[in-house]
Order: sequence, then C-alpha cells, then structure tokens
Amino acid sequence: MVVNEQKKRIYLSAPHMSGREQDYIGEAFADNWIAPVGPHVDAFEQEMAKHVGAFGAAAVSSGTAAIHLALRLLQVNHGDRVFCSTLTFIASANPILYMGGEVVLIDSEPQTWNMSPQALETALKDAELEGALPKAVIVVHLYGQCARMDEILTLCGRYGVPVIEDAAESLGSTYHGKASGTFGKFGIYSFNGNKIITTSGGGMLLSEDAGMLKQARFLATQARDPAQHYEHSQMGYNYRLSNLLAGVGRAQLQVLNERVEARREIFATYRRELAGLPGISFMPELEGTRTNRWLTALTLDEREAGLTSPRILQALHEENIEARPVWKPLHRQPLLAGSRYYRHEGRSVSDDLFATGLCLPSGSGMLEVEQQRVISCIRRTMNAAVQETGSRCIASFLPN
Ligand SMILES: *Cc1c(COP(=O)(O)O)cnc(C)c1O
Repeated sequence: MVVNEQKKRIYLSAPHMSGREQDYIGEAFADNWIAPVGPHVDAFEQEMAKHVGAFGAAAVSSGTAAIHLALRLLQVNHGDRVFCSTLTFIASANPILYMGGEVVLIDSEPQTWNMSPQALETALKDAELEGALPKAVIVVHLYGQCARMDEILTLCGRYGVPVIEDAAESLGSTYHGKASGTFGKFGIYSFNGNKIITTSGGGMLLSEDAGMLKQARFLATQARDPAQHYEHSQMGYNYRLSNLLAGVGRAQLQVLNERVEARREIFATYRRELAGLPGISFMPELEGTRTNRWLTALTLDEREAGLTSPRILQALHEENIEARPVWKPLHRQPLLAGSRYYRHEGRSVSDDLFATGLCLPSGSGMLEVEQQRVISCIRRTMNAAVQETGSRCIASFLPN
C-alpha cells in the first residue's frame, strides 16, 4: 500500500487553538505559577462548572485519572464489580483494573450506540441474585452522542448503584437541554489532544458533592494530611492539572460552543454529500439530545454498498487521510478476555458496529477543501465498487 505523501495529511481530530491560549500561558509565566496549582487551575474549574451547569469540578491530569478518582471515591475494592459500556476506548475500563475490580461489560443499543438499558437491567438482576451488585456503572457517551440517561439512571437508582458518566468525548453535548457529564454521581471530561477542546493532556472530574470534590483534590495531590511535615494516612496520586495547561483550557473553553457548531457542520456536510450512496447510514442522534458530533461516525452495509468499511479505510489511508474503525468492543480485547458480557436482546450490537463502522476526519479546524478530499475519495471508492459488482452481475448472466 502506497501512501500519497505529497498530499497533506488530514487528521482524524487535530487540536484547534483559538489564539488566546498564549495570553493565559504568558500570565502564568509572568506570575511564576509554573506548578500543578495556581489561579488558572481554580478559574478553569469554576468556568467549566459554570459552563456545563455543574456544582463544581476538579481539574486533573487526564480523563483516565478522573475516572480512577471517581472509582476510588466510590470505594471500589479488590474484587468489586464495576459495569462499563463495552463499545469504548480502553481508558473507560482501565481504572477498574487499577482498583482490582471485576469488569462487567454492557452492550450498546442501536439508536445511541451506547449502553443498552435492557442489557444493563439483565446484568443488574443477575448481580442482585448473586449478591454482588456493582459499586458503579460507567456509562460512555460515544462520539458525543448521549446514552439513554433516563432509563439508565432509573435502573441504577432502583438498585442504588451510582453512575459515573464518561463524557470524555461528549463535552458540549446535551440531553434534554442539560449538559452531558452532569447526570451521574460523577462525570468526567478529557482534554487530550484529540478531544473537542484540549489542554494537550488533561481532564476534569465533576460532582454535585462539595465533600467529594475536596476529597478528589486531596487524593490527586498525594493525600497530604494537614501538617507542616508531610503526613500521610491514605494512598494518593499525583493527578493535578498543571497551571500552564489550565490556562490553555480556559482559552479553549471560551470557544467550546463554536467548536461544537463546527463539528456539527462537518457532520451535516458529510451527510449531505454521502447519504445518497448505497449502504451508508450515519450515527443517529437520539431525540431530545444534541450531540457535539465529536467524530462523524457511520456504518456501511456491505450487501448494499458492495464493499466493506476496511476497504474505505484503506483508500483513505492511501490518500494520506486518517480515519478509524469504530472502537473495538472491550469484550474483544485480549486484556479483558474472560470478562462477563451482556448483549442487547440476544444480539451483540457493539460487534455489528465494530464490523461495519467508520469514523471520518472531524476536526473543527479542518478546511472545506480537506473535507472535500475525504468526500471524493469515499465517492470514488464506492462508485468503483458499484461498477465492479455491476460487471460481476452482468458476467453471471452471460452464456458461458
Ligand atoms: C479520551 C477518552 C478517555 C480518556 O481520556 P484521557 O484524557 O486521554 O485519559 C476516556 N474515555 C473515553 C471514551 C475517551 O475517548
């Protein structure tokens, strides 16, 4: 496979600076706040909480760290069960392993591609019968699309199980007008380089509970008990966000709404230009929700399209365009082999999505001509496949 390197690389989701980040960094330098504490950290937390309508937030070094802290605050112990969406990035579940917990994976449902309430209900029933209800349920909002929170919160409420929302990909999305990440006992955001806003690396833990947030900051700074000498009665972590990076985050947060609009526009363009092709279906948007369309995701029906999504990935790759399959479900990961897995109504929706799904370049800084390059490459590849299939059909009618 030859990659056409003459063509400028188009990334899946490149960082998109506003231009104001350096002012904040300059301020931090001027005041010599080059540390994992400082005025930008406090201000970033307050501004984020205000933006999403949360009581408060704790800024940390990554989204993964935020999930880890949430599990620690919920006192997950060795051997405790934690449920998690199966169709997600490994970072959703790794912190369960850090805590020595038992990962139980829950399938997606077709409308949201997110946690299936039916599968969750079965898993909760089983866990109750076995006297081992989970300590938490980690619900992921994939590619910006909110999970069915009403159903999930009702079920978890019935069993008294707290919900952690992995909103790493869905900052700026809303469910019935309320921000994703503000429904669970905890919510987490990520500011990794590929997310909708970035601090290069960083994360945030959200909660309505002042005591929990205080405890999160305590655990994130090596759990130092109040004393002049360093006194420790609990195990802590070095998880606070740098004041420099929090400055970047403050500038990024100011343009979050614009970034959501840009990504939704990119999605709309892909749909307008590609929806007519045979076999293509775009990721749905659940009624009553508004997704940030972090990544434009679609599925391809091979029987109608005459080709598989890996073939499109290959064609894009040759054009120096970065695209990806949908996340490989966690129950297919060697790391989690043997974990219990609950399917959606007897059928594994996440496996189907993995087999047929595709994520297209969706960065808010992507140029129109770049998006057109992606679109023409897909069109060309699909048209070629249609012609091939067509000629195969004709050939089969010819007398031999
Ligand atoms: C990016 C991501 C994370 C992890 O965030 P980091 O800041 O990279 O640690 C967790 N869950 C999901 C679904 C993600 O996409």
